[in-house]
Amino acid sequence: MRLRILAYHAIADLSDDRVLAEYGVPPHLFAAQLEALAAAGWSFVDLDTALAALAGERELPRRALLLTFDDAYADLLDVAAPIMADRGLPGVVFAVAGQIGGTNEWDNKKRRMTIDLLDADGLRAVAAQGIEVGSHTISHRPLTEIPEAELEEEIVGAADRLEQAGLPRPRTFSYPYGEWSPAIAEVARAAGYRASFTIDCGVATERTDLHLLPRVEVQASDTPRKLRLKLLSAGWPAPLRDVLLRLARG
Ligand SMILES: [Zn+2]
Repeated sequence: MRLRILAYHAIADLSDDRVLAEYGVPPHLFAAQLEALAAAGWSFVDLDTALAALAGERELPRRALLLTFDDAYADLLDVAAPIMADRGLPGVVFAVAGQIGGTNEWDNKKRRMTIDLLDADGLRAVAAQGIEVGSHTISHRPLTEIPEAELEEEIVGAADRLEQAGLPRPRTFSYPYGEWSPAIAEVARAAGYRASFTIDCGVATERTDLHLLPRVEVQASDTPRKLRLKLLSAGWPAPLRDVLLRLARG
């Protein structure tokens, strides 16, 4: 059993912001990526299927993929969800529980473009369309840089707040900026999440720690062809992968 997990952020053209540009996949590119992956034989699975397979309870189709989205930008409901619904694709979104209906304030401190996040109605609406809502802390601070005493509030408190917003208690968690440590992963495990997602590149199997699931980050410069190569090489050693992706450029 091998599972690749894609990590998207905004489905929007953010090319006006030098830093955020790579984290916004324009809608037409998002649709083209999904089309190309399906055409290349990739199968999109839902979270239940992925969790059961990771627990060794079921097999997955060859080339299995789980779609995930960090931050819960408003464009998930307006743009991405319809594109996914047309193709019957499920997914998971990780919401910043202290910014429900807010903005990417964690970026704004660095004078980045302001992007709207889904409010509680929007989160419930994407959930109703098969995009399960997971947690991405309360404040989106890098967990490796905050006092240990605040970890529990960020990780457990985020689940409480999502529940208070009328959502099911989240089953999954994603580390802001992909920053984790063994101690942080233990807090996520003890908090009762079923699985936690990093942005370490790799391929998940039955042997992968459920609280250190690897993902393949999707960027604005990923042509459909480059994304296919990223997925195929996700389990390779980083230097080999870099060579392949450099050759694939353009
Ligand atoms: Zn994030």
